Amino acid sequence: MASQLYVDVILPLALQATYTYSVPLEMETLIQPGVRVVVSFGQRKLYSALVYRAHTDKPQVQQVKDIIQVIDTTPILLSSQYKLWEWIAEYYMCSLGEVMKAALPSGLKMESDTYVASGSDVDEMDLTDEEMNLIHLLGQKRKLTIQQLTQKSGLKHPMSLIKSMLERKLLFITEDIESDYSPKTENYIALAPEYSDEKKICVLIDSLKRAPAQQRLILAIASQATTPNDLTTARVLRKALLEKVDVSASVLKSLIDKGYIIQEEVTTSRIDNDKGEHATCNPLALENFQINALNEIQSQFSSHDVVLLHGVTSSGKTELYIHLINQVLQNGQQVLYLLPEIALTTQIINRLRKVFGNRVGVYHSKFSDSQRVEVYLKMLSEEPFDVILGVRSSIFLPFARLGLVIVDEEHENTFKQYNPSPRYHARDTAIVLAKQVGAKVLLGTATPAVETYFNAKSGKFGLVTMLERFSGLELPRTMVVDTREARKRKRMKSHFSDALLSAIENALSQKEQVILFQNRRGYAPFIECADCGWVPHCEHCDVTLTYHKHSNQLTCHYCGFGMEQPGSCLACGSSNLQPKGFGTEKVEDELTVFFPNAVIERIDLDSTRSRSSYERIISGFEQGKIDILVGTQMVSKGLDFDRVSLVGILNADNMLNFPDFRAFERSFQLITQVSGRAGRKGKQGLVIIQTAQPDHPVIKSVIGNNFFTFWEWQLTERNRFHYPPFYRLIRITLKHKDKYHLEETAESLAKTLRHSLGENVLGPEPPIVSRVQGLYILEILVKIKREQPLQRIKKFIEYSITMLKQKRETSTVVIAIDVDPY
Ligand code: ADP
Ligand code: ZN
Ligand code: ZN
Repeated sequence: MASQLYVDVILPLALQATYTYSVPLEMETLIQPGVRVVVSFGQRKLYSALVYRAHTDKPQVQQVKDIIQVIDTTPILLSSQYKLWEWIAEYYMCSLGEVMKAALPSGLKMESDTYVASGSDVDEMDLTDEEMNLIHLLGQKRKLTIQQLTQKSGLKHPMSLIKSMLERKLLFITEDIESDYSPKTENYIALAPEYSDEKKICVLIDSLKRAPAQQRLILAIASQATTPNDLTTARVLRKALLEKVDVSASVLKSLIDKGYIIQEEVTTSRIDNDKGEHATCNPLALENFQINALNEIQSQFSSHDVVLLHGVTSSGKTELYIHLINQVLQNGQQVLYLLPEIALTTQIINRLRKVFGNRVGVYHSKFSDSQRVEVYLKMLSEEPFDVILGVRSSIFLPFARLGLVIVDEEHENTFKQYNPSPRYHARDTAIVLAKQVGAKVLLGTATPAVETYFNAKSGKFGLVTMLERFSGLELPRTMVVDTREARKRKRMKSHFSDALLSAIENALSQKEQVILFQNRRGYAPFIECADCGWVPHCEHCDVTLTYHKHSNQLTCHYCGFGMEQPGSCLACGSSNLQPKGFGTEKVEDELTVFFPNAVIERIDLDSTRSRSSYERIISGFEQGKIDILVGTQMVSKGLDFDRVSLVGILNADNMLNFPDFRAFERSFQLITQVSGRAGRKGKQGLVIIQTAQPDHPVIKSVIGNNFFTFWEWQLTERNRFHYPPFYRLIRITLKHKDKYHLEETAESLAKTLRHSLGENVLGPEPPIVSRVQGLYILEILVKIKREQPLQRIKKFIEYSITMLKQKRETSTVVIAIDVDPY
């Protein structure tokens, strides 16, 4: 007798790695790694689980449940993807289930719902009208969730009726599993097969003389025929037809009923570029310094898996990517092109489509889930996209022939997923992915991350530089304004130095554009009572509420809590409430006073809640309809404008003073990136930095474009204070609503860790914002020297946390682990 087959499956849960089920004999041939199966888990829930491994080792547990059904005939996960999932789970200290949750669009992950279905032998004679109505509703769809049924019933009190019908077994409850995903269909109209030749159609049209609307409709369809001798080849989209002929649906219906025309449901794609966009251009001809860089990249790839392309802003990095992609496609391989931000995909996709047409697919979270399912399935199909342009989650797509990964703006911290687990870094994960499948990686940026520079310097990565700009464009000139000095000499008007104001005026008079950067949204970070010092704080978080003038609201930027701005102090009643500090909204407000004739727009999280408003502002600026663009770091992100002659940084200090070991690196990157927006063909741009610390080493490095001095200085500091790349960091965050309980738990964990790891365990300490959404927060930081056994230390941390969680008193503390935190 053959032995029983078992499968270890992954469930989309944060618990253990895999779960074992038995396979009924008749399903054995359908089982292979990567197919989905339906299993029951917990009380009554059904899930679609992924088969990880099939085997015949009888599990230790008492009762093993059978799988219920096999969903797929072919795997939806390639073995290369499993390898990546395993690495992520191990490196970022999470479960395979958590990776599954992040990796698959939800339409591919199913969970059960409770449905109501009609009983099997219901005698309609015994039913009231209302009851009949419900049964009919169910009859059409077979089953509905209780919520759907109550909504569709149109009854005021459907629950009592449903209950009584359940008791009388007219209805019953079933547990069923369904995907949110269903293919998109469209209705097409065609002439019925017997009207294939023109004569028959003429007779038909003649016979419809008295029904002109019907006549018009038939004519409209016939006129669409692609082969003149067979009119039934005409297929017209129903919606378009009704609009074009301007008749009602009832006219259409009567023609269908008479058998003159037929309606067909056709499955279509939600992927917009399936509609046949074709490549129209070759890649642009490169300039000499670009050709040299391209050749250099290629020769470095023969000895390195990863190459860093350090190219100043507008050196033509994107053009080089296009040339490289072209070569990889000619070798029959695929390319993954990662961007840090959805917003950037719009500009880049246009450039890529021109050269690669519909061989390029886009993948990001602003897509509907169904669209993402279709991209995923297309990647599994015989005709996958050759190029995927996407944000960090696109590393989870199935690539059968990956040859190159491009990570554009590799220094951006949005590549790191902060919440929920897996807290992976897409750049680092992409490097692992490429290594696993034998692909190359190109990291591109004008301001490499300190870690990346270190890897390039030490020879682990190749390094190629382009320190000139395309077509001889000059890098902008930088001017620093000492705000303390200017204030003393009365050369500041509110937050604007005289120097900045006159530079703006000058640019506007030349019909040039201006970008102003302030790294804070809202009107003011807080308001304060001038009489008693009262400052409104969030009820749920340990932060001040930001004042938003346009909406007259005080809002919390951590939890979203908001209240109307009080007219007077809630502590002493004084009406003397003053905004303190300033954000983008205030900059915009004051500018309208200084430059009443300029068109000013603001771009930050508040002004771009919808995707369309973001695109409206960006394209308005591109087309020169906007004179001054005020924004947060959104204005720094790789956007390419050609009429900007002035960039102003209103306050560099809040970036420089941020208490984090990456604060200087980030300030350097941000200021350099924003500055990179300045400069037009034939004219050098100007950057004005306002700061109270004009002699700060970061400011000095920015002015001199001293990348190398800056990096070397940072590396020395990082080494001295035990930070990456010399030490690895693991941050453990603990949260609980009871402060004392949290402290006790965190102390006990820190003590356990310190016992083995010694002084490289720091904390517990509260983060800058030490309470969010009603939960107190403490952090423990573990620093691990490069030569220490990383994997063993991780196992030890995991073990210590598991032990802690097993105690009843501490099981309610929420604990999150972040490896390589940002
Ligand atoms: P980066 O990505 O380094 O900021 P881009 O590739 O976006 O630079 O190039 C900046 C601008 O210069 C773009 O408008 C691009 O089309 C143009 N450009 C760069 N290289 C060339 C080239 N060889 N021929 C024509 N235009 C180019
Ligand atoms: Zn007061
Ligand atoms: Zn809050």
